Amino acid sequence: MIATAFVLGGAAAVGASCRWNWWRRKVSGGIPALMYHKIGTAPQGSRLKKLWVTTAEFREQMEYLRDNGYTTLTFTEMREIEAGKSPRPEKPVIVTFDDGYANNYTDAYPVLRELGLKGCVFLVYETIESHNSWHDPESEPWIPMLTWAQVKEMQDSGVVEFGSHTMRHRNLPTIPLDEARWELTESKKRLEEKLGRSMLGFAYPYGAGAYAPEVRRAAREAGYRYDFGIKQGISPFPWNHDSGPLKRLFVRGDDFMVDFHLNMTRGRARF
Ligand SMILES: [Zn+2]
Repeated sequence: MIATAFVLGGAAAVGASCRWNWWRRKVSGGIPALMYHKIGTAPQGSRLKKLWVTTAEFREQMEYLRDNGYTTLTFTEMREIEAGKSPRPEKPVIVTFDDGYANNYTDAYPVLRELGLKGCVFLVYETIESHNSWHDPESEPWIPMLTWAQVKEMQDSGVVEFGSHTMRHRNLPTIPLDEARWELTESKKRLEEKLGRSMLGFAYPYGAGAYAPEVRRAAREAGYRYDFGIKQGISPFPWNHDSGPLKRLFVRGDDFMVDFHLNMTRGRARF
């Protein structure tokens, strides 16, 4: 009986260590950047369910940040810390959202505001007030993107800072370089005109081009200070842009809190 329990317990422990990265060393001194997309319940027909985090789970994750003493930073605050104008918080984190879905306003923004946290949203300029037109609706239903009124309200509240995610969400390394440059510079210019603020942050659509030297150079030349890929991990802070784009922690729709904890402390929850 005892032997059976031992074997079962051992098997469970082996199973858990295969599934979760407990054994990984804790990361210290870095800047974890969480990556979200859609907050809410995945609609019928969605084949990209891992990109949906429910509002209840999002709240639990944000409560984890608050209860564990993390300070959420915007790009502007990162810049001020790097420039020595503000002190570096003991436990910094950036909460990012790709694409700019309307559910970021209806489901994420109230939670951030209530808990006194901040977030950063990367907008696809031509989809604002429209829908996620780059997805094939057969695999991912079209849903509303943010409106300008929502964007401005979030910006004016000081809770959310915006960055660019290009004009049309194209796969940058697969299109001619001059078109990729246009996606980078035109979205920055238009967002700055509309919002009256510098766009310091950029996220590569699909993470594509983050490690393609000519695309990354174009992003730097466009004037973005912080470029985010989708490579899993925690970048050191202060961050050195020569070492590559900022890494992120992909919060998956099927994550448990243990995944979130391991992401935040180890830079990776699973294999
Ligand atoms: Zn995207």
